[in-house]
Amino acid sequence: MAKRHCILMGPPGAGKGTQAAMIASAYDFEHISTGDVLRREVSKCSDLGKRAKTFMNRGDLVPSSLVIEMIASRIDDGTGKKGFLYDGFPRNREQAEVLEEMLQKRNETIDMVLYLDVPEEVLFSRIETRIKLAQTTKSEPRADDCEEILEARLEVFKRDTQPLVIFFKNNNKLYTIDGDQKPEVVFEDIKKMMNGRV
Ligand code: AMP
Repeated sequence: MAKRHCILMGPPGAGKGTQAAMIASAYDFEHISTGDVLRREVSKCSDLGKRAKTFMNRGDLVPSSLVIEMIASRIDDGTGKKGFLYDGFPRNREQAEVLEEMLQKRNETIDMVLYLDVPEEVLFSRIETRIKLAQTTKSEPRADDCEEILEARLEVFKRDTQPLVIFFKNNNKLYTIDGDQKPEVVFEDIKKMMNGRV
């Protein structure tokens, strides 16, 4: 049976990781977070991790070729699940086009794109909270969780990813959700969008 393919998009700090985990479990999707895979590779000091680290630590996108390879092997490996939920991928037009091509070969397509809309000032206050939490719990914050790098990540989002949001909107695939609400309320809104569509 054809697999479903859903993309979760949103600016850095929009809450994609939290929602993606809930969606994947509720809809029996394989959750693919390119950011999580890359962070694991960095902590293992693998070749991929070493190549990605410099880009990640300055808030830039890593070269698309590295990410596309990761995605291709995850899709090909296949799972018994109903579909895939992409979190943090695609980040630009090039990645989206390659994904569409990969799916076309399988007679599948991107079914829907969920966009978490969160105002910029909220993103900054969430990152501050994350940093404070890491300080009080004495845990290691994400290397890119600081105000300067958030600014860089936001710029990259506006430059590379926002045009992709508009592209999906023009293709009638985009579903926008107000991400400035409690996580459980955001999830309820997501379910309303997804039910009957995937
Ligand atoms: P995230 O956890 O999705 O915010 O990703 C953290 C960092 O990983 C980003 O700032 C990028 O440096 C890198 N990254 C994650 N996904 C991608 C992608 N699809 N393309 C390029 N770089 C990515």
